[in-house]
Amino acid sequence: MKIYNTLTRKKEEFVPMEPGKVKMYVCGPTVYNYIHIGNARPYVVFDTVRRYLEHKGYEVTYVQNFTDVDDKIIKRANEEHSSMQAVSEKYIAEALHDADGLNVKRATVHPRVTQEMPEIIEMIQELIDKGHAYEDNGTVYYDTKSFPEYGKLSKKNLDELIAGASERVEADAAKKNSTDFVLWKPKKEGEPSWPSPWGDGRPGWHIECSVMSKKYLGETIDIHAGGEDLIFPHHENEIAQSEACSGKIFSRYWMHNGFITVDNEKMSKSAGNFFTVREISEKFPYEVIRFFILSGHYRMPLNFSDTLMQASQNGLERIKTAAQSLEHYIANCTTETKADDAEKEAEINGFLTKFEAAMDDDFNTADAITAIYELVKFINVNITEGFSKKAALAAQKMFNELCSVLGILQSEEKEEEDPEKEKIESLIAKRAEAKKAKDFATADAIRDELAAMGITIKDTRQGVQWFRA
Ligand SMILES: [Zn+2]
Repeated sequence: MKIYNTLTRKKEEFVPMEPGKVKMYVCGPTVYNYIHIGNARPYVVFDTVRRYLEHKGYEVTYVQNFTDVDDKIIKRANEEHSSMQAVSEKYIAEALHDADGLNVKRATVHPRVTQEMPEIIEMIQELIDKGHAYEDNGTVYYDTKSFPEYGKLSKKNLDELIAGASERVEADAAKKNSTDFVLWKPKKEGEPSWPSPWGDGRPGWHIECSVMSKKYLGETIDIHAGGEDLIFPHHENEIAQSEACSGKIFSRYWMHNGFITVDNEKMSKSAGNFFTVREISEKFPYEVIRFFILSGHYRMPLNFSDTLMQASQNGLERIKTAAQSLEHYIANCTTETKADDAEKEAEINGFLTKFEAAMDDDFNTADAITAIYELVKFINVNITEGFSKKAALAAQKMFNELCSVLGILQSEEKEEEDPEKEKIESLIAKRAEAKKAKDFATADAIRDELAAMGITIKDTRQGVQWFRA
């Protein structure tokens, strides 16, 4: 399996530190608003990376943080006459709601900055003690010149950066070098703060990921991931902090997903083409958003538009229809085996080979989806020609496995979790009784009651099926 490593700018064979185990950290959102489509991409992409690693038999420890201390959250709290904590609690819950909708598995740990303060202060102190950081009037800065490898991820040259930065920005007199960044900043009136050896204040953004990654995964991890906009300065600074402390490699592989554009333009609030996942989900189901994100290679830019979303919806519909037809076929098939079963099964395994070849090549989900479409075609053709139940079941097993690696088509699981399941099924049973007694008025009234609950029912040969709209 090959992964494109931003650190080396090459596709490299993936070999985890410890056989069979993968330690993975993905930078999470700053929680001051609903997550937007640009945040959704790393959620879906790296969840799929995780699912594929699990499919290959790895045990994955997956950490994704929530940044719940930040200027933007404080600004939002002031606007809403609320507190930073209330704002972040709200948007953490909303982010998890959207992530669940997108069928993103929960991380092994979702740490939050506000709950990691002692460890953050400890790491900053360690950086000071080791000569990589300095304090001035309650602000602690990282000394970028103290870390000779600074710039190795973004391939930037520190001296050029210093020269460039001093032309662009007004010099902060307290900084030794213009590229130095804040690890701890002093309290401002009316803002939340924590006590520290340098006075009351709060941490800068970059330190949190170094601290949480170390605490939950150790000094060296296998994969660190995020959007490509994080390469510089965020990930560069994380490397400087972590490696200066431990003297060890921080992350062995660095993965970055590409940008999302909207109608071929950069997404921005001012351009009015800024969409939250919640807004999009009102027009297209979450599963279509996920499928759309996986339709392109994760490192390429991805263009979002209504037309492309519609195309994804149609594509997903084609896959779903095949799944339903196959299920129906299996339920009604009376030919248990046939002479060509072994041949069919070999053909079915061929789709797995194709799928894995695509995913092994730096998670090429676009080609993996093509392999699923080919399996769909195989299923449709063989339903028409009439393959055996044994072969049909093998096709179904393969189909479910491949879809589950991509995290698509998993609505069945959600139906089981429906909180109103008991009530719905008892109403359906009552309706069946009423129909049996030819009391159609009652039967129709129950159907309306179910519709009002958002439930659609369908009478089939196998009994009544119900769906939540
Ligand atoms: Zn981070």
